[in-house]
Amino acid sequence: MIPYGRQHITQADIDAVVDVLRSDFLTQGPVVPQFEAELATYCGAAHAVAVNSATSALHVACVAMGLQPGDLLWTVPNSFVASANCGRYCGAMVDFVDIDAQTWNMSVEALQEKLEVARLAGKLPSIVVPVHFSGQPTEQEAIWQLANEYGFKVLEDASHSIGATRNGETVGSCRWSHATVFSFHPVKIVTCGEGGAVVTNDAQLCAEMQILRSHGVTRDASRFVTVERNNPPAWHYEQHELGFNYRMTDIHAALGTSQLRRLDKYVAERNRLACRYDALLEGKALSRPTLASGNISSWHLYVVRVQNERRTCFEKLRAAGVGVNLHYAPIHLQPYYRAMGFSPGDFPEAEQYGEQAITLPLHPALNDEDQNRIVQLLHQVLNDN
Ligand SMILES: *Cc1c(COP(=O)(O)O)cnc(C)c1O
Repeated sequence: MIPYGRQHITQADIDAVVDVLRSDFLTQGPVVPQFEAELATYCGAAHAVAVNSATSALHVACVAMGLQPGDLLWTVPNSFVASANCGRYCGAMVDFVDIDAQTWNMSVEALQEKLEVARLAGKLPSIVVPVHFSGQPTEQEAIWQLANEYGFKVLEDASHSIGATRNGETVGSCRWSHATVFSFHPVKIVTCGEGGAVVTNDAQLCAEMQILRSHGVTRDASRFVTVERNNPPAWHYEQHELGFNYRMTDIHAALGTSQLRRLDKYVAERNRLACRYDALLEGKALSRPTLASGNISSWHLYVVRVQNERRTCFEKLRAAGVGVNLHYAPIHLQPYYRAMGFSPGDFPEAEQYGEQAITLPLHPALNDEDQNRIVQLLHQVLNDN
């Protein structure tokens, strides 16, 4: 089976991990801060906080932003469930903004309309989570303008889009958001095995997330409240709030640091393969992804939409050894969210998208022959229908 995505591991990655295994620290050592520094520099953000998954990253970011029971978090329906679940971990209610029919990202128009309705009803969101679907940056500058107008925090879910740019601005610079989250799961652009991070330009938010990822405990003397700050005992530490164990290990960070050094190469190769798909699929009876002007995608996913017979197409491709997948069934139609009152018809663009989408294999180790075979098979199943 040709997988839809998979990791690419080099000898340098293996050596970096083995070096940590032979060192004094497996976790909480020097490699996590090094990974954070290199990630922040790459993105052009002031700070990075590494954690054990993007799901944890979304959670600590929401807690640090002050999300509370009774608050509202908005995201898009066509994402992985984690983009919405972070709100639920904080006891907040989750709602959705429909997607744009061209980019399949959050529709800024739909967001603006929904905000106006919410303002009149006195139910504005505390946090909005735009998702850079498939690696294409969201219209952050427009969303940022609305954030300033309506007073919500912006948490970008860039799990798909590390290495992408919009109008020359690197995703993760946080020029138009309060914080941005990345995933380092093996199918994503670069991997730690498991891992995630939040980048931000807000020093206070960064400090808060650092404490939350490790039990809510601090060893920073300037924060102590039960001893003299200028003369604390050497053993002293304090828990100030309820945190978690979301730490990244040095083993994972070593793999991530090594992978990060090849990020631009990976993005270039993914762009080359996406261009080849575009050319090979031109004129076929399906819709291809559209990039908004100014966007360079990191191409985590290459998704096509078929007008009908999706199930037959999908199953024939799987039977022929092509590991097609679905990204995503709309979150609001998951039984867990339906139980909160969402139902079919709530977000028609995302629902139509969810009925037509097929993710084709795309990863740096995919070769041109495999890609040709995938396109040939796709052509065949489309003609059969
Ligand atoms: C993969 C993914 C996540 C979760 O990432 P983990 O690192 O597996 O927790 C969150 N949001 C989106 C959009 C993703 O694709």
